[in-house]
Amino acid sequence: MTQLYTHVSFSLPCLGLLAVGWSVLFHRYLPIGEALGWLGGMMVLLSLRVCHLRWRQRGLAELPLMVLERELFIGVTISSIAWALGVLLYMEHLPDAYRAAMIMLTTLILTGSAIMLLGSRRALYGSLLPLGFAMLFELAGGNDQEQVVDLMLAAYLFIFLPSLLRHLRREQIASLHHQFANAELVAELRQVSDQLRSASRRDGLTGIANRAHLDDCLARAWRRCHRARTPLSLVLVDVDYFKQFNDFYGHLPGDECLQQIAMVLAEVERREDDLAARYGGEEFALLLPCTSVQGALQLADKVRVALKALAIPHHKSLVSSKVTCSFGVATLVPDSTTSIAELIQKADAALYQAKHNGRDRIEVALMGKAA
Ligand code: GH3
Ligand code: MG
Ligand code: MG
Repeated sequence: MTQLYTHVSFSLPCLGLLAVGWSVLFHRYLPIGEALGWLGGMMVLLSLRVCHLRWRQRGLAELPLMVLERELFIGVTISSIAWALGVLLYMEHLPDAYRAAMIMLTTLILTGSAIMLLGSRRALYGSLLPLGFAMLFELAGGNDQEQVVDLMLAAYLFIFLPSLLRHLRREQIASLHHQFANAELVAELRQVSDQLRSASRRDGLTGIANRAHLDDCLARAWRRCHRARTPLSLVLVDVDYFKQFNDFYGHLPGDECLQQIAMVLAEVERREDDLAARYGGEEFALLLPCTSVQGALQLADKVRVALKALAIPHHKSLVSSKVTCSFGVATLVPDSTTSIAELIQKADAALYQAKHNGRDRIEVALMGKAA
């Protein structure tokens, strides 16, 4: 109905042009006062309808469809009555050729409105009946040939046009069904694709970001920090003596331990841009854009303490009776002389150093441009 309302507003200027053409064509056959009176009335009516539609356009979406349909019905019915008046005024004064032209124009108007108003039965009848009957009435009072035309027009209006409209309505409904089905399908596909995208970024065991997602975020953070000339920090975290944990407690408790560690890492993420990811095996990473080495150290220490607080027993660890982790921190301000690979390699070297120095500790890689 809303669409119909919009389409009708496009047809009104065409009807105005048709009314002017009609009056210019037939002006010699009607007293000038009557001809101008009809044309003036028609113009006022069309202008009112244009203004009303413009005014309505603003709140169109909120209006109940019943109200819209009633307004449409009133508008097209008054319009049809005005055209019918034109037929009754002009028809009897016109010579044969012009009468034929008037019949053609009227049939054109009737067919056009019928197709356009297909969406509302009420508006359709309001538009067809006054003008259709005025024309049939005029032709019925004419000579023999006109009465034959009258019959043909009646057959057109009552048999051909209704069957054409029925067919078009069926097509319209089928196309609406298709549109709805397609919209549902698109929504479903979008949902599945969102789920797949989210799944492709998550690590299956721990549910935090996976290595691929970390690589994406790292590349993005690198570019951003490069532009802003701000430090970028990376913390690599590795569980101490995890092979022994697995060997002693079994693989499933090993998995649970990794899940608990991941949860701590995810919860300690503070800024929106920070990212905790599973780097691989029993290694994790914290990506901290716009974070200085002091900030990264503070956060790493928070994680270390929180992991200890988990107090997961580890009787085979050589450094503690609980599960512990070692941390390698690297920070640099990205520029054209440094690279992502270098940042990772430095964090890895710092982690190696932490292992070498006795585990359960944090080591920082010293870099030329570290902040
Ligand atoms: P270090 O203190 O030097 O890091 O010793 P580590 O034993 O932790 O290191 P190592 O690299 O020798 O062993 C890592 C172990 O982590 C071996 C592997 O079985 C285990 N691991 C890797 N991924 C998983 C996993 O998804 N689940 C479980 N349960 N274990 C895993
Ligand atoms: Mg390891
Ligand atoms: Mg390890």
